[in-house]
Amino acid sequence: MKHAIVGTGIAGTLAAESIRRVDPNASITLIGDEPYPPYCRPMISMLLEGSIPPERMAIRGANDFRSLNIDLLTGERVSLIHPKEKNLETAKGKIISFDRLLIATGADPVESKADGSHLRNIFTMRNRRHVEAMLEVMPEVRSSLIIGGGLVGLKAAHALNRRGISVTMVEKLDHPLPLVTDRKCGYAVARSLEAMGIALRMSV
Ligand SMILES: Cc1cc2nc3c(=O)[nH]c(=O)nc-3n(C[C@H](O)[C@H](O)[C@H](O)COP(=O)(O)OP(=O)(O)OC[C@H]3O[C@@H](n4cnc5c(N)ncnc54)[C@H](O)[C@@H]3O)c2cc1C
Repeated sequence: MKHAIVGTGIAGTLAAESIRRVDPNASITLIGDEPYPPYCRPMISMLLEGSIPPERMAIRGANDFRSLNIDLLTGERVSLIHPKEKNLETAKGKIISFDRLLIATGADPVESKADGSHLRNIFTMRNRRHVEAMLEVMPEVRSSLIIGGGLVGLKAAHALNRRGISVTMVEKLDHPLPLVTDRKCGYAVARSLEAMGIALRMSV
């Protein structure tokens, strides 16, 4: 049985390992468009903060996939799937055939449609490349505005604050982490962010 898995995030990686556990003879190809081996996505905020080097983010060692006989392809974006022919094509023209296909491509950040969104020094934060782009301009940055008071916004705010960059966070609801906390807890989070020197603009 030939398995192709698109996406080298935690879902794709664990799926590949689980398939190997139940089928020692399966052919397994794990394909990801990011240029790195699988890494721990939540740790990108620590990379932004500067508290870990990039190599600490790896979720498996270099030999782990080889020893499990999982074919890992990085830097390959799957651009076409031919279900009848049971193969897929990458943007670089590689063709990979499969009996079973798993699409584990995660999610993309919602890009702002506001006027001026094309200007420089505006970022989203979903992957390691996004953080590396932020780090490239970091030496010239004194202040930052974070749109969105959810988990990722909070992690980014904390990281930039730890780097000594002034942070203002805007959130359309009336407290941070609105999707996972009630008001009482959200207000407590707001107070501790303000105590760290992070400026909050809620209900905007
Ligand atoms: C800053 C940050 C902090 C987070 N903190 C936490 C936390 O503390 N706790 C928690 O539970 N969750 C956290 N999350 C969420 C968590 O990271 C995600 O839920 C998790 O990464 C989802 O895993 P996944 O494998 O489904 O998708 P992803 O990790 O998104 O992986 C999908 C992969 O597929 C690749 N891909 C997409 N399209 C293609 C294509 N056409 N061809 C090839 N490859 C493709 C993507 O580039 C990506 O590498 C955080 C997320 C972020 C961004």
